[in-house]
Amino acid sequence: MPDPQVEIVVDLDAIAHNVRVLAEHAGNAAVMVVVKADGYNHGAAEVARAALAAGAREIGTTTVAEAVELRAAGITAPILSWLNTSDADYAGGIEADIELGVSAAAQLAAVAAAARELGRTATVSLKVDTGLNRNGIPAVEFPEVLELLGKLVADGTVRFRALFSHLAMADEPRHPVNDRQRDRFLDFVAAAKEQGLEPELVHLANSAAALTRPDLAFDMIRPGIAVYGLSPIPEQSDFGLRPAMTFRARVLRVKRVAAGEGVSYGHQWIAERDTTVALIPAGYADGVPRPLSGRFSVWLGGARRPQIGRVCMDQFVVDLGANETGVRAGDAAILFGGESGHPHAQEWADALGTINYEIVCAPRGRARRTHL
Ligand code: PLP
Repeated sequence: MPDPQVEIVVDLDAIAHNVRVLAEHAGNAAVMVVVKADGYNHGAAEVARAALAAGAREIGTTTVAEAVELRAAGITAPILSWLNTSDADYAGGIEADIELGVSAAAQLAAVAAAARELGRTATVSLKVDTGLNRNGIPAVEFPEVLELLGKLVADGTVRFRALFSHLAMADEPRHPVNDRQRDRFLDFVAAAKEQGLEPELVHLANSAAALTRPDLAFDMIRPGIAVYGLSPIPEQSDFGLRPAMTFRARVLRVKRVAAGEGVSYGHQWIAERDTTVALIPAGYADGVPRPLSGRFSVWLGGARRPQIGRVCMDQFVVDLGANETGVRAGDAAILFGGESGHPHAQEWADALGTINYEIVCAPRGRARRTHL
């Protein structure tokens, strides 16, 4: 097979390094690695394997389907799925020994029905709403859920694994909302214990909290973005993490453009002098956002090269300058990656007014992903 022209390269050593950094922050708490959305587009199974080998103990996903896929890929560690929609395959989850996150009494009843039908015990974790006001059991509904859970634990239909919640403002570590969520979380834990329902573990912290609020680590931290080497707090990049993803493409051709000529659709860039340009065969269909047009550079031939004109569906152009550069067709251009000097995913996020999470989720389409 010819070399891929557009490639997402994932460095699993960086994943392992980041897990070790997070484990240090966690102290005695365990590490659950979040690999939802195909491991933030890094490859869920590969990331899970690397992270577990580096000391992570559990895996977190959004859907049951994602979790079941990981089991099928041979992951034997505990796997939690937490955003289970009405069409979720609870039976499949129970058969695959997935820990099912529950956010409502009706959902708990549906899980229990699936467990009875199979003659199996379902492992359940309660996701409680401490202030994110998204998914999660609100405090007013908690007594009803606990009452049902009590019955289901007593008759062996359900094993009560964990009680957990998600933070709204962990990227502002000193914001009082974090403390309020912690206090409410402790209230939920106390309410469950009062009913004789003691979870095996409780957990609250995402990456930002894991890295900045050791007091919120409880029994387990639940990092996602930091596992991939990106900072959850854009203004703070000194956590010692290593970006795992490199997005790169090979130069398709190098050509001269005369002064006064326009480049790409709309001629938004006009050459002020005779220059040499390189055509890169990656566009918005591959995850290079069109609004980034004219606002980023690539690492090519040992230097940063400005992207010029509009990003198209399949390609964009970079300016190599007036003088001969030695750049040739087939050379690799780094769109973003981990090494110093290379463009960083955070630069794309800043230019687009978004977060680095969205940037690493973008590379796709014809891009082939490989793991080192
Ligand atoms: N826990 C839950 C419930 C989540 O939904 C997520 C992701 O949004 C995480 C943990 C990981 O968050 P982060 O990637 O910010 O570490």
